[in-house]
Amino acid sequence: MADLADLTVATAGERLATGEASAADLLDAVIRRASLTEAELHCYVTIDHDGARRAAEESDHRRSRSESRGPLDGIPLALKDNFCTRGLETTCSSQILSGYRPPYDSTVVARLRDGGAVIVGKTNLDEFAMGSSTENSAFGPTRNPWNPERVPGGSSGGSAAAVAAGSALAAFGSDTGGSIRQPAALCGVVGFKPTYGLVSRFGLVAFSSSFDQIGPLARSVADALTLFEAVAGHDPLDATSYPGTVPEARPSLETGVKDVRIGLVRELSGEGYEPAVTAATNDMVAQLEASGAIVSEVSLPSFAIALSAYYLIAPAEVSANLARFDGVRYGLRVTGETVEEMMARTRAEGFGPEATRRILLGTYALSAGYYDAFYGQAQRVRTKLINELANVFEQVDVLVSPASPTTAFELGAKTQDPLAMYLTDVCTIPANLAGTPAISIPVGLDADGLPIGFQVMGPALGEARLFQVAAEVERLATFDHRPEILAAAGDRL
Ligand code: GLN
Repeated sequence: MADLADLTVATAGERLATGEASAADLLDAVIRRASLTEAELHCYVTIDHDGARRAAEESDHRRSRSESRGPLDGIPLALKDNFCTRGLETTCSSQILSGYRPPYDSTVVARLRDGGAVIVGKTNLDEFAMGSSTENSAFGPTRNPWNPERVPGGSSGGSAAAVAAGSALAAFGSDTGGSIRQPAALCGVVGFKPTYGLVSRFGLVAFSSSFDQIGPLARSVADALTLFEAVAGHDPLDATSYPGTVPEARPSLETGVKDVRIGLVRELSGEGYEPAVTAATNDMVAQLEASGAIVSEVSLPSFAIALSAYYLIAPAEVSANLARFDGVRYGLRVTGETVEEMMARTRAEGFGPEATRRILLGTYALSAGYYDAFYGQAQRVRTKLINELANVFEQVDVLVSPASPTTAFELGAKTQDPLAMYLTDVCTIPANLAGTPAISIPVGLDADGLPIGFQVMGPALGEARLFQVAAEVERLATFDHRPEILAAAGDRL
């Protein structure tokens, strides 16, 4: 029998339902896996042994009375450490929040607890989710389970690596410019960013509020949908929460892609794309066509300048959102003679280099005299991109591209060159600018045995179409590879 730590959420749910496994067994399996892999991978900032144990016992107790709160009841999940969790340290992998214990649960966490999920712990991220490799964490990097010399991607690298390594059955992350999809691609798991507004941001520590969106990282497309369904839906505590009904995507998992119009994005190919990534993308497109999809190449000229717009708007919002970390209200305080000195010292010591860089860039972009040339211009690009996308979605049902131009790169390869790091988000950022849904599905390995992710993008609220195509991609790819580290750990299981 397969190790319980390697099950999908769906299969684990069946085992729970038949009594073949208990929530405590599932938790034991992922904790055991963590004990074998954490020293090397460092997926977690905090493992909540006591809280998780209690939640698993409560779930088993419910089940012994033939009660269940749904598909996540008793399932061990991991959460990126930028979700507020009541009483449990929430750091955003920043020194400035060290010791901060939120007095409340974020809406997503509250919904997961209501659904009986077992929250194993909080996963590592780039500080305040700014980065693409998880190397910007104040607590040290996470490593990629497929090759510990490589990064797991970021910023939700801890969540992606935990799902790939088996120290959680699935996880949640946040995606501002690609932080769910890119690490999912680099770690060989599924990562889904929903339409902006479908999942409440209440209690997600704000990075760039007009882009931030919460979503799942999972081992299958169906699991990703299950996690999304568990947390999606209107929340009066988030002013940007979508008040309508959440699109129903479950039935489309089985319908195939016959006559679905698929557009391959011309701008997301060419220079900077690894040949293995391009080949895997083209191969999947050919397979989709053979399965009945109508494929065409489409051009979205503003995709080529989306990255520049993002790196003005996101830092601008950072400069406002991170102003709250002043040494008075949260986490770290470094004392000084005056209040100003205390705040300046706290911020100088508490923020790492990337957070500092973004605050400075954003403050500059918003300053009088530069506002229109930088921030204003970037917002115009954003509007142009939204219009281009709306037009293209008149002609095609979904867009496809690589999820990342490269597979996992080596630790340290891009840390000295912020621009090179920013360029890794080139495929994922357009969907954030437009607030549209997008998903990455693993489709193969490169010659070094590293996973390749395929991205499907849909129109706003087009989750049904998105999952329809994603499910077919998953069936065609039959990606059933496993990281070697698990084979090694397997000897000790
Ligand atoms: N890597 C991008 C950035 O650094 C995206 C991060 C994210 O999506 N949180 O801003």
